[in-house]
Amino acid sequence: MLDLTGKNALVTGIANNRSIAWGIAQQLHKAGANLGITYLPDERGKMEKKVAELVEPLNPNLFLPCNVELDEQIQSTFEVIRDKWGKLDILIHCLAFANKEDLSGDFSQTSRSGFNQALEISTYSLVKLSGIAKPLMIEGGSILTLTYLGGVRAIPNYNVMGVAKAGLETSVRYLAAELGPHNIRVNAISAGPIRTLASSAVGGILDMIHHVEQVAPLRRTVTQLEVGNAATFLCSDLASGITGQVLYVDAGYEIMGM
Ligand code: NAD
Repeated sequence: MLDLTGKNALVTGIANNRSIAWGIAQQLHKAGANLGITYLPDERGKMEKKVAELVEPLNPNLFLPCNVELDEQIQSTFEVIRDKWGKLDILIHCLAFANKEDLSGDFSQTSRSGFNQALEISTYSLVKLSGIAKPLMIEGGSILTLTYLGGVRAIPNYNVMGVAKAGLETSVRYLAAELGPHNIRVNAISAGPIRTLASSAVGGILDMIHHVEQVAPLRRTVTQLEVGNAATFLCSDLASGITGQVLYVDAGYEIMGM
């Protein structure tokens, strides 16, 4: 049975009610997990207020600021987890960033700073968070990240984020190899295109969504809750034999040649 009672789950990446992380948090909660939520703080505290109101019905046990560009914020997040929870079972890495100007036009024009920032936030953060989570996953654990087909194939405008996702998927395999002996599983979900704050920065995202609706075997896109269901499965004991994998939750689009 899928039961996450007694499991402590940290969910990163909720910005609003369209966020994939919001779909995941709702389904983890439904399965009985105890939630900790992090948000990206801004100067005026708007994000904190917005995310706090949204997640309130899920009764999160921890609610913390965590900008993954700042080591001290990552450090203090995990210190709180250690002090309040004593152990971590599930880590959801559901965040990414690239400058809007690097998500359309010619990939060869990507700036050095834009390239570095996209990979630092979207890719390196998984490595960093996993390393700091490792000693807290004392009963084993499950780490999950979100990727996209653009990390494997050249998708118009996805550009630097495709490179970031390729690195992310490779990081999943190296982390799975390292953490497996500690009974920590590391997987990724490759979600089909969904309208969110992050995806709205990708040039032509609506055309991508319409294309998927016409071509994918299921003739539709997927929802945040469908991704949440697959995430909950991967984080549960039902998936105890699965690690280092990329699971496509994309209405079947990935199998199509044309
Ligand atoms: P979203 O905008 O709701 O979520 C992105 C999150 O990243 C936000 O919560 C934002 O606050 C967070 N973030 C950005 N920079 C950060 C930083 N420095 N520190 C901490 N958090 C930071 O969009 P989403 O589509 O739900 O994206 C979630 C994940 O899903 C991303 O990895 C994205 O690439 C991936 N994904 C999205 C789609 C899609 O079509 N929406 C498809 C496949 C994969």
